[in-house]
Amino acid sequence: DDDLARLAALVRTIPDFPQPGIQFRDITTLIADPHGFALATDLLAIRAARYRPDILVAVEARGFIFAAAMARVMGLGVVLARKPGKLPGAAIGVDYALEYGSDRLEMHEGMLSAGQRTVLVDDLLATGGTLLAAAELVGRTGAIAAAALCVIDLPDLGGAKRLADAGVPVETLIAFA
Ligand code: IMP
Repeated sequence: DDDLARLAALVRTIPDFPQPGIQFRDITTLIADPHGFALATDLLAIRAARYRPDILVAVEARGFIFAAAMARVMGLGVVLARKPGKLPGAAIGVDYALEYGSDRLEMHEGMLSAGQRTVLVDDLLATGGTLLAAAELVGRTGAIAAAALCVIDLPDLGGAKRLADAGVPVETLIAFA
C-alpha cells in the first residue's frame, strides 16, 4: 500500500557494495527520515506484538536501532546479539557461515530465561544466516524465538523459508527482488 511504497522509496540502492555485482540496500536514508523511521518502527511493533514477546532480541548493528524504537512503543526491553568480542561479561556464541568466510553472534549469559518469548529484530533479511544464528542463541538459553522481524526482505535469497523451516516465522515490511 501507500505506506509501504513510501518506505521502499526511502531505501537507497548502492551498486557494487561491498563487492562487485552486489546491489546493497542502504536503509540509513530511511532511518534518517523522521516520518519513515516512525512508520517503519510502528509497523514492526504492531506485527511483533502479535507474537506476544516478553522481550526483543536485536542483531548488531542496525537491528539495534529498530529494536530500541520498537521496545519503547511496546514497553519491552532489548537483549543484544553482538559481533564477537564486544560484550564485557560472560557470553554464549554461535558461529555461522557467510557466502565468503564466517561470522559469529554473542549474547550475555543470563539475559534470557527458559520459556521466555522473544522476537528477533534486524534491518534486512538476506540468506537468513544471521537471524538463524540469533535464533540458535535464543534457543540455547531455553527461551523461544517466536518470530523474526525485519524491515527489508531479499526474497530471492531464501531467508524466510530457511527460518520458517527452523520454526521461526518471518515478518518483513518491504521486499526487493
Ligand atoms: P543474511 O545473514 O544473509 O540474512 O544477511 C543479513 C545480514 O546482513 C543483516 O544483518 C543485514 O544487515 C546484512 N545485509 C546483507 N545484505 C544487506 C544489504 O543489501 N543491505 C543492508 N544490509 C545487508
